Amino acid sequence: MADASPFQARGDLVDGRQALPERADGELVATDPGDTRESLGAFPFAAESLERAVAAARRAWPAWRDTTPELRSAALRRFGAALQSDRERLASVIAREVGKPLWEARTEVSAMIAKIDIGQVGRWRASSRGVFGVLGPFNFPGHLMHGHIVPALATGNCVVVKPSEKTPATGQLYAELALSAGFPAGVANVVQGDATQGARLAAHPALDGVLFTGSYGAGRRILEATLDQPWKLVALEMGGKNGVLVCADADLDAAAAAIAFGACVTSGQRCSATTRVFAERAVADALSERLVKLFRGIAIGHSSDPCAFMGPVINGAARERHAQVLAWAAADGAEVLVAGGPAEGPRPGHYVRPSLHRLHATSRGSRYQSEEHFVPDAFVVAVDSVEAGLAALDTTDFGLVASVFTRSRATYERAARVVRVGCLNWNAATVGASSKLPFGGVKRSGNDRAAGAASTLYTTFPQANLEVAEPGPPAPVPGFPSLS
Ligand code: NAD
Repeated sequence: MADASPFQARGDLVDGRQALPERADGELVATDPGDTRESLGAFPFAAESLERAVAAARRAWPAWRDTTPELRSAALRRFGAALQSDRERLASVIAREVGKPLWEARTEVSAMIAKIDIGQVGRWRASSRGVFGVLGPFNFPGHLMHGHIVPALATGNCVVVKPSEKTPATGQLYAELALSAGFPAGVANVVQGDATQGARLAAHPALDGVLFTGSYGAGRRILEATLDQPWKLVALEMGGKNGVLVCADADLDAAAAAIAFGACVTSGQRCSATTRVFAERAVADALSERLVKLFRGIAIGHSSDPCAFMGPVINGAARERHAQVLAWAAADGAEVLVAGGPAEGPRPGHYVRPSLHRLHATSRGSRYQSEEHFVPDAFVVAVDSVEAGLAALDTTDFGLVASVFTRSRATYERAARVVRVGCLNWNAATVGASSKLPFGGVKRSGNDRAAGAASTLYTTFPQANLEVAEPGPPAPVPGFPSLS
C-alpha cells in the first residue's frame, strides 16, 4: 500500500480486509485547511460497514483474549515497525489534513511509535481526589463502608459517610471509633440518614466521588443523579446472582457443603450468596440429595443463640419477599426440594427457613431466575456438558461471583476466561471473599472499581508529571523564536 495515494479512498478495515462499502450512506471530504482551493479526496462511509466491524470484533475477541501476552505484544511490535517504516508519509498526511507544520506532525508520529512500548518517560503519581461520599448497605454495616473509607483516607481523601438506615447504631458506633482515632477535624465524617439523605449526599456538587455498596436499583439512581457531574468518580458495588457449576468429576460432598453454606449464611443476605446451581447431569441427583440434607439441617435462631447458623432476615419486607420468591419459583414450574420461606422462630421476629428448588427448564425472562432476592433460596439445574454449564453461569445480568467445582485445573482456567464475573472461585464457595484480593463485579454487579486490593486505583487519579529539574535552552523548533 506504500505507493498508493493516501487521499484515494480504499475503504474501511473490517474483519482483516480493507474494502469500499457496496452502498455508501455518505461521503467524507479531506481538505487542506491551509490551501482550500481544492479538496484532497473523498471517503465514502456506510452504517452497514460499522455493523460488520462490531460483529467481527465480537467474533475475534475470544481468540485474542486467549492468545498469550507475548503474541499480542509481538503483533503490537509489528504495528510499531509499520508505523516506523512509513513515518514520513504518515506525518505528511497528518500535516496536510490538520494544517499543522510537518515538524509537529512528526512529533505526533514519534509519539505513536513510542506508545507501542509501554515504558515511561517522566513519571506519574497517584493524586488524591478530594472528598468522597460513602454509602453502605445493611448486611455488613461496618465492613463494607469501611472497605471504601480506609483506602480513601489512606490515599489522602476526606470522607462523608452515610451508613445504612437499617443499622444506625452500628453507624453511630463506627463514628465514635473514628472520632477516638483522632483524625484531624473534618477528615472523617459520618452522617445518619435514610435513602433520601443518601441521594442528597450522592448528588452533592461538592463531592469528588461516591463510593457506594448496595442494591442495583439504588446504584442506578446514583448514576442518574450524577449524569451532569462528570468530574465525579462513581464506584458502584452492587448485587449478585451468583452461580456454581458442579462438574461430573467434582468432590460432591465439598460442593454441596459450599453451596448450602453460600446460600444460607447471613440468611441469604450477601451480595455473594449462592442462588443458582448448575450440575452436570450425571451428578445432578446425587448433588441434590446432599443439598436437601444440608438445607433441612440448617439451625435457625436468635443472634444470641450460640447454636444458630442462621438468624432472621432484616425486616418484614424481606420476609414477605421470600414468600413472593417461592410463588415465582412455583410459576416457573420448579420442583420443591426443601420447602422454606417465612417460619416461626424462637422469638417474634422475621424468621425464614431456607428453600431449595430443582428446575427442569430455564427461562431468561423469569424474575425468579434472574433477579437478586436476598433471601436464603437456591435452585439446581442439570446441564449436559461443562461448556453448557459455563455458558449458564454467564447467563445473568449480574457478574459478581461464580464458583466451579472440578478436579480439572484446565476447566477452572477456562471458566476464568469465559465467565464474566469479578470473582471466580475454584472448589470454593461463592461467599467468603479474601480482603487481600480485589473484590467487585462486572455487568449489573458494578463498574469494576474493585474494593480490597485494587481500591486505591479509584480513590486516586493518575496525574502525569513531565519533570525538568534544571531547565536548559529549549530544543530548536522551526519558526519558534529564540530569546537568545
Ligand atoms: P440499598 O441499596 O437499599 O442501600 C444501600 C445504601 O444506599 C444505604 O445507605 C441507602 O440509604 C443508600 N441509598 C438508597 N437509595 C439511594 C439513592 N437513591 N441514592 C443514594 N443512596 C441511596 O441496599 P441494602 O438493602 O442496604 O443492601 C443490600 C444490597 O446491597 C444488595 O443488593 C446486595 O447485593 C448489595 N451488596 C453489595 C455488595 C458488594 O460488595 N457488591 C456487598 C453487600 C451488599
